[in-house]
Amino acid sequence: MSQPLPLVDSFNRTVNYMRVSVTDRCNLRCTYCMPAYGVNWMQQDTILSFDEFYRIIERAVARGLKKIRITGGEPLVRSGIVDFIAKVAALKERGLKDLAMTTNAVLLKTMAGPLYKAGLRRMNISLDSLNPKRFEEVTRGNCFRKVWEGIEEAERVGFSPLKINMVLQKGCNDDEVIDFVKMTLNRDIHVRFIEYMPCGDYDDWKSKYMPMDDVMKRIEAEFGKLETNLEDKGGNEGTSGPAYNFKLPGGKGVVGFIHAISEHFCDTCNRVRLTADGSLRPCLFSDIEVNFREALRRNCSDEELDDLFDQSLQIKPEGHMLEQFAEEKTLKSMISIGG
Ligand code: SAM
Ligand code: SF4
Repeated sequence: MSQPLPLVDSFNRTVNYMRVSVTDRCNLRCTYCMPAYGVNWMQQDTILSFDEFYRIIERAVARGLKKIRITGGEPLVRSGIVDFIAKVAALKERGLKDLAMTTNAVLLKTMAGPLYKAGLRRMNISLDSLNPKRFEEVTRGNCFRKVWEGIEEAERVGFSPLKINMVLQKGCNDDEVIDFVKMTLNRDIHVRFIEYMPCGDYDDWKSKYMPMDDVMKRIEAEFGKLETNLEDKGGNEGTSGPAYNFKLPGGKGVVGFIHAISEHFCDTCNRVRLTADGSLRPCLFSDIEVNFREALRRNCSDEELDDLFDQSLQIKPEGHMLEQFAEEKTLKSMISIGG
């Protein structure tokens, strides 16, 4: 039998990274991600079973996929997630190099240990404020303490380095930049600042958007020049993401910047996204997708799956159309894409 072909798009970019949204449900309602009420949820029967997700992932790994990030919605609200992680982690014996999860950490205190045991080693936690009251304003959830305990438990069971993602919103949490950076002085934590993207609630996007260069300047004014860029910008080689990473002098952890908007990295984009209802989305900022669900549910062959992957790769755009989306306000919320 011939070797499955690698996942290469029509611009010769190798795709080796897939983000998998296992549910669109969430136990928080972050203002930048979804409305307080009236969320347009996916119909339950359209959401893939874990066996269906696994079938897509297994085939992608056979075709050279190296990195998977499990996301959502909130991945930890889906029952069976720990067993699913164990099954996917076992693909490390078949070529998968990296398995990670992005979570809001609300349920992490009890789940960090089981997830670690299941083989998960990398975890990104979303945390936009260290102030419980502001945390509640941003997430509409009164659970800062739970999240903080979840972070401590994750560190305790061995997730290292733990990555903390902070989405910056001007006039909301930008006054906490220095406090977040200080967390890296004594702890082996990666704090990553992320540009606010025009998804979900667009109305205040422009006024709250803050380019990463402004954030870096603010940090340099406090701590001096950020000089050591620890990683490349990500791309087709390896599995690193599009982050610029620095260490403060004498610091234990890392400070990273993700220029999702101000400096796009389309020419080296190595990723695709699988939505909870089984669509492969080749570009975050484009609503074109190829649906795998119907084929999976009639027990299609591997060749048919390969055709669907190839169709997705053929339509992966050369560059994103973010400006058009921001103008037309048509981009889906992150809960259905997985961030
Ligand atoms: N619920 C999990 C969490 O919050 O970590 C995983 C899913 S969430 C959609 C994935 C990531 O997308 C989070 O780090 C979140 O902060 C980010 N995100 C959601 N909406 C965003 C927006 N409008 N701009 C930038 N990042 C956003
Ligand atoms: Fe939920 Fe994550 Fe979206 Fe917040 S960012 S509402 S935690 S999915």
